[in-house]
Amino acid sequence: MTPDEPEAIRLRLTATQSQRLRELGADPLVLDELFVDAGSRDAAFKRREDDLARDSRRRLKELRAGRRAPQLVELEAGLSATLTGAGFVRVVTPLIISSDSLLKMGIEHGHPLREQVFWLEDGRCLRPMLAPNLYTLLRRLGRIWSKPFGIFEIGSCFRRDSKGARHLNEFTMLNLVELGLPAAECRPRLEELAGTVMAAAGVDDYELVRTDSEVYGEMVDVEVNGAEVCSADVGPHPLDGNWGVVDPWVGLGFGLERLIMAREGYPNIERAGRSLAYVDGVRLNI
Ligand code: ATP
Ligand code: MG
Repeated sequence: MTPDEPEAIRLRLTATQSQRLRELGADPLVLDELFVDAGSRDAAFKRREDDLARDSRRRLKELRAGRRAPQLVELEAGLSATLTGAGFVRVVTPLIISSDSLLKMGIEHGHPLREQVFWLEDGRCLRPMLAPNLYTLLRRLGRIWSKPFGIFEIGSCFRRDSKGARHLNEFTMLNLVELGLPAAECRPRLEELAGTVMAAAGVDDYELVRTDSEVYGEMVDVEVNGAEVCSADVGPHPLDGNWGVVDPWVGLGFGLERLIMAREGYPNIERAGRSLAYVDGVRLNI
């Protein structure tokens, strides 16, 4: 280094400062900023902290004034209106399901998803997915309604997923499924429906990627910057026989908190989910 070069643009925020700004929802790039000395760093930190706290208070004020509902509630309402407008019928089914229904999904002992189930007494559990209930309704409604028809549910699912930046123990799933369309139309329909949901969620930039699922075998995932927000598939599928479903179908399962993360650029899913530390994405220790 020559004597003229600035001594060091190498001082980073302290761990405590970084943590504080992260909690308040700072853009991750801000956390990488470098400073010439401790004085300018601390002043910048204070400015950023004040700005973020002010934003947070403004968001809470809007919430209190009733101008908005929490993000999760607004997203749910928006998706519901879009899908209902597209001819899908909303259903609400039990959160508590039987061990048998997991077996019928091929989730047996030793299956990775089985390890993630919250068990209750009497061989019942909190649902880790919506598919078993929707399969049941497809069969029952299929006897009453002409095909094709589509149904969807938006509701809580529970998994003992290892805690991390992208997994919650309780999260909100949107599962939509359409039954009885011509088999050749299922794949293009999957892409169309993925587009419909992503547009309604306000996320323009996404990719459809082929993957392998523990439950369904080969599937299509919707990814945003390499992160999964949805897994989707078409049938007939080998599991269909367990549920008395014979017609072709297309189904997509989205995580609403993942969609909020993607849309808002949150680095951590906790901020988008059910929480006591955050209200509507705002950290309460402002
Ligand atoms: P991942 O591989 O990311 O753990 P998955 O493939 O096990 O997800 P699926 O069974 O495909 O998840 O569930 C459909 C969608 O539900 C996922 O694409 C994701 O958006 C959401 N999801 C699944 N598990 C969780 C979780 N623990 N927390 C938040 N969202 C989740
Ligand atoms: Mg998946």
